[in-house]
Amino acid sequence: METVDILVVGGGPGGTPAAKGLAREGKSVLLVESGSGLGGTCLFKGCVPSKIFRESASRLVDLKRAEEFGLRIGGDSPRVNWAAIQDRKHDILKRRSDAALLEARSIPGLQVTLGRAQLTGPRRAVIETDGVRREIAFERTILATGSVSNVLPVPGGNLAGVLSSEDLIEVHEIPDRLVLIGAGPIGVEMAQIFHFLGSKVVLLELLPRILEPVDAILADRLALILRRDGIEVNQGVAVEGVRKVDGRYEVIYRRAEDEERATADRVVTVVGRRPNVDHLGLENTHVRFDRHGVKVNAFLETDEAGIFAVGDVVGQPMFAHWATSQALSLVAHLLGRPARFPLVNENSAVVFSRPEIGMAGLTEEAARAQGMDVAVAEYDYRRDARAQIMNEAEGLLRVVYKRDDRRIVGIHALVEGAADLTGEAAAVVRAGLTMEELASTIHPHPTLTESFGLAAQSAVGRRCATVR
Ligand code: FAD
Repeated sequence: METVDILVVGGGPGGTPAAKGLAREGKSVLLVESGSGLGGTCLFKGCVPSKIFRESASRLVDLKRAEEFGLRIGGDSPRVNWAAIQDRKHDILKRRSDAALLEARSIPGLQVTLGRAQLTGPRRAVIETDGVRREIAFERTILATGSVSNVLPVPGGNLAGVLSSEDLIEVHEIPDRLVLIGAGPIGVEMAQIFHFLGSKVVLLELLPRILEPVDAILADRLALILRRDGIEVNQGVAVEGVRKVDGRYEVIYRRAEDEERATADRVVTVVGRRPNVDHLGLENTHVRFDRHGVKVNAFLETDEAGIFAVGDVVGQPMFAHWATSQALSLVAHLLGRPARFPLVNENSAVVFSRPEIGMAGLTEEAARAQGMDVAVAEYDYRRDARAQIMNEAEGLLRVVYKRDDRRIVGIHALVEGAADLTGEAAAVVRAGLTMEELASTIHPHPTLTESFGLAAQSAVGRRCATVR
């Protein structure tokens, strides 16, 4: 039987950096990935392909708006070549996964195997590759097996042809009519991408508002923008079933007492994700889990000593950068070094809508729910130089800070370009800067980052936020 120090199961943004980090520090590590390469859901079915589609959709919008910028583009109006977009996606995915595999295989002490791992006991596993089984003994293991899409629990929710977000990434043509069930970040992003690419889109959400964890004011503003652009957004509606009628799909949903229907060529359900523990052999260990995730302590160790878990398999928040951050902290911890595990209050995320929503730290609602006495400084991007130059001047910045010590606990921006503001926002929250410190930080002009300083200045009474 082969023996390694550490077995890492899953080669996504959680497992891969964990395996690389431990091997670089001299551990013998076996990284097992059941897919076709390293990168996980994020690379193959999630973050990267969806943003490749978003890029094409967004550039199409820009082309159609060229005249706003004094540009006349002659000839035919721009058209979508979906096959070319899919080809571009495949190229980027392949380039990135090949590079990841090459890099991992160059690290001494790190063995990468494409195959499926199953625990046969707390310190034993079987790896199966193309029908060949290997038995492995290890000191410790890190479970980084990610998550899978929930099936909609209504009649017809699992009809062949009712797609998950992963399936939508692979579709061969842009549907004429698309119904998306679930208006979380993935649902909203996909709704807008396919709307821009030419689909007639209906978005159905059970909760009274879209993007439940996002700042409510920004989410409501985005819902208005989606509707104004022509997406049918139905909030507070309960889907009761999906039927196939004459080759198309009919989604039956209830709004209060009324039954309504939406027809589509494609129905996509984006109703949350569950931890991927299928066929992992956890029954052969003391690891506990439920539909929210594998149970871990503050050091990401499960109920079975020596078995750790990172990323989506642990549950919310489910983001690639969160998985990586947990993995890097766990590496330090396993090497006996001081480790700072990521804190939910300092997490950051982006909704890649247009305009984007970037968020770092706590929303006003979440801060109040934690018992904090907070105030919010707002900045309207209609006044903003950079936003006006880009003709993207709709949007709002909200900086949440504690009234007592004036420390910033959250920064939330709805503006095109917000994605690239969110790193700075996260650093501000992580460092616990005060409004005074943010107000006196020099932000370059004309950039969207100025909005941080201007919002803070308005709150500290040094308002110089005149339109320049
Ligand atoms: P995964 O990336 O899912 O990796 C787990 C890996 O484990 C998989 O490759 C799987 O094949 C492998 N595996 C499972 N079981 C076994 C086994 N028994 N043996 C061997 N290997 C196994 N996050 C962001 O931060 N930004 C975004 O913009 C973003 N967009 C997204 C868009 C979509 C459509 C989706 C679905 C997700 C998106 N996410 C985004 C979320 C992000 O993809 C996940 O949070 C991230 O991939 C989690 O990383 P992970 O390593 O925990 O799991």
